[in-house]
Amino acid sequence: MSPIRVAIVGAGPVGLTLARLLLNKPNIDFVVFESEKSRDARGQGGCLDLHPTTGLAALKEADLYDEFLERARFDGEALIICDKNFTKFVELSGSDERSSHGRPEIDRVSLREMLLNSVPPHKIRWGCHLRTIDEDHNLIFDHGTETGFDLIVGAEGAWSKTRKLVSDQTPNYSGISGTIFEIPNAKETAPECYNLTNRGSLFSYTGGRAIMSQYQGDGSLKLAVYATRPENWSENASFDIHDIEATKQAILDECHDWAPELLQYVRYGQNVEFRPLYMLPIGWSWENRPGVTLIGDAAHVMTPFAGQGVNLGMQDALMLSRAIVKGANSKSPKDTLPAEIKLFEKDLFVRAKETGTFTNDMMTMLFFSSSLRSVIEKVVLRKLTFYDKTILQRAKYPLMTALIYGYYSLFKLWH
Ligand SMILES: Cc1cc2nc3c(=O)[nH]c(=O)nc-3n(C[C@H](O)[C@H](O)[C@H](O)COP(=O)(O)OP(=O)(O)OC[C@H]3O[C@@H](n4cnc5c(N)ncnc54)[C@H](O)[C@@H]3O)c2cc1C
Repeated sequence: MSPIRVAIVGAGPVGLTLARLLLNKPNIDFVVFESEKSRDARGQGGCLDLHPTTGLAALKEADLYDEFLERARFDGEALIICDKNFTKFVELSGSDERSSHGRPEIDRVSLREMLLNSVPPHKIRWGCHLRTIDEDHNLIFDHGTETGFDLIVGAEGAWSKTRKLVSDQTPNYSGISGTIFEIPNAKETAPECYNLTNRGSLFSYTGGRAIMSQYQGDGSLKLAVYATRPENWSENASFDIHDIEATKQAILDECHDWAPELLQYVRYGQNVEFRPLYMLPIGWSWENRPGVTLIGDAAHVMTPFAGQGVNLGMQDALMLSRAIVKGANSKSPKDTLPAEIKLFEKDLFVRAKETGTFTNDMMTMLFFSSSLRSVIEKVVLRKLTFYDKTILQRAKYPLMTALIYGYYSLFKLWH
């Protein structure tokens, strides 16, 4: 029996997780096509926190959890959530493996390196930029055409070309754009900011703006200043967006009434970059088409304000790998595989809708309310109930609501 042939388009965290999970599985042959020229072609930027039932579950099944623990930054769990006055509504300390809050950080570059090292090099073809897929499922790359796959998995992110095979849907502008800076070697160059971020994250929100700082494993701080803006804002900006000092001054002017502790981050920022945020409609789904499917951002790109994208995507990879293994090892793989993929998609649509709704709720509360102060109880409650559904059961929910509202009404008396 010839093996089931799988094409994975995109060597991002999600495509690579799938590749690793399919490695050495009987009756399956796969190849990853990636448009970047080599593994070091582009900096990966940023860090991610992986969650127990999604991202970490995928790494456990991929037998990479021990290596993950060696690479994870538990002190990265330190967190401050505050408003423009630097009133700290949430403050968590960093941790270690034993005292972890369950969401250790890993640098994106380290996660990708771990995944790349776990898949034999000949399974990943660099410099393969997919242009389109024709009706006969031939993959048309810049370098030529690849063909003969039983399953094509689009894992090439928000602007997926594979998606066009199942739908005309493209991501919509979320209404929020970011100005992203770097503060290299923060301990030396910006010690106040380094101390405040405490090797973790500081997120401040008020009135449709956010100043967010995250410590990175290379000693830098990633600074993101987000604001609700029109989509074409950067084209029509009243200052030269390539002039970093003018950009910083514009932010300082816009945020003139923010606490000095928060504005100091902007003053230290280097290497500016603009990032409008796009999302697929919440609950978007597609008609099943045998021989093709989508995972990760290709299936459900969302804004980063609930920290879910990579986790949901790695869970997709986990669920899809199980479906492919089951189909490939059935009595009649060519018949069973499409049915398994259909079931996988049904489950994906439910998970993506739930997570997309949560992400959108967080984005709405954090960016489209007058102040963090006015929504903090809802933000905390929404987050808790997303992660622990048992809170929604009977007496637990009113009790939890009373505790949170009670705590914050006292907190607000003093702050
Ligand atoms: C600012 C920001 C912060 C975030 N923070 C978090 C967080 O804290 N937690 C979290 O869970 N998620 C976070 N996310 C979301 C997370 O980054 C994404 O969900 C995740 O990277 C999706 O992984 P992916 O593999 O599906 O796609 P991607 O990471 O986009 O990878 C796609 C890969 O496909 C390749 N590719 C693209 N087009 C083609 C083509 N035509 N042909 C071949 N290859 C192609 C790309 O080069 C890339 O390697 C954040 C996102 C942003 C923008």
